[in-house]
Amino acid sequence: MEFEIIDFHTHPFKFPEENICRHKEYCNMSAENTPEYLKSLGISHICGSALSLNRKDLPEDLSLWDKIALSNKTALELAEQYQGFYTPGFHVHPKYVRESCEEIEKMSKKGVKLIGELVPYMCEWSDYSCGEFDEILDVAQMYDMIVNFHTIDNDRIDQMVKKHPKVTFVAAHPGDGENPQRHFERMKMSENYYLDLSGTGIFRHGVLRHGIDICGSERFLFGSDFPICSPAMYIGEIALNPLYTDEERKNIFAGNAKRLLGI
Ligand SMILES: [Zn+2]
Repeated sequence: MEFEIIDFHTHPFKFPEENICRHKEYCNMSAENTPEYLKSLGISHICGSALSLNRKDLPEDLSLWDKIALSNKTALELAEQYQGFYTPGFHVHPKYVRESCEEIEKMSKKGVKLIGELVPYMCEWSDYSCGEFDEILDVAQMYDMIVNFHTIDNDRIDQMVKKHPKVTFVAAHPGDGENPQRHFERMKMSENYYLDLSGTGIFRHGVLRHGIDICGSERFLFGSDFPICSPAMYIGEIALNPLYTDEERKNIFAGNAKRLLGI
């Protein structure tokens, strides 16, 4: 059976320093051939944020917000270049509440409805439960944004989700140790909490079956974290492992993302 596949978690790049692949010299990758490569794997649409923070050509006096805004601009430019193949996600930052709220308003006007993946570990913050981020999330809710965030500090994520039961969250990475169970508990706590399967965790045999049995297949989104991770590996788990039904595969590969994004 052929499945439509949306990769909800990617970081497309325009310039080589924005390409976070650790072995890029072996992968024949460019901004131009990204859609062609992903389509060759059966992926028909991608989502996610651009990461321009480490570009080497940036002036030294550029502020952190300037770098964040540049990443957001890169995402919009790539969306234009990829003509419907890519749903751009943008960054916000609790150190810049006013700028972040203005960015949400601006992006909403452009039809963008995805924040993230947020990557606090790259941008000098670590607390999803702080008051400043609360303000940003209130505005995100007002504009009906989906908030995709990197998993750090389970207790603080619990607080964030409890304070914002109406915000649509998509956590990134099932993870290992206590992390999957903590995600599943949050999914039970908030019907607006989803989990994308990118990055670490999905290689733990049985973890996704465990999650589906507790929360249902409607709460998981296919994601890879391309270009740092190999999408083919993630597709293999969902498509080949007999632990899942075709109905579950359909939901996870594309159905849930389409419902959330309204596409
Ligand atoms: Zn990521």
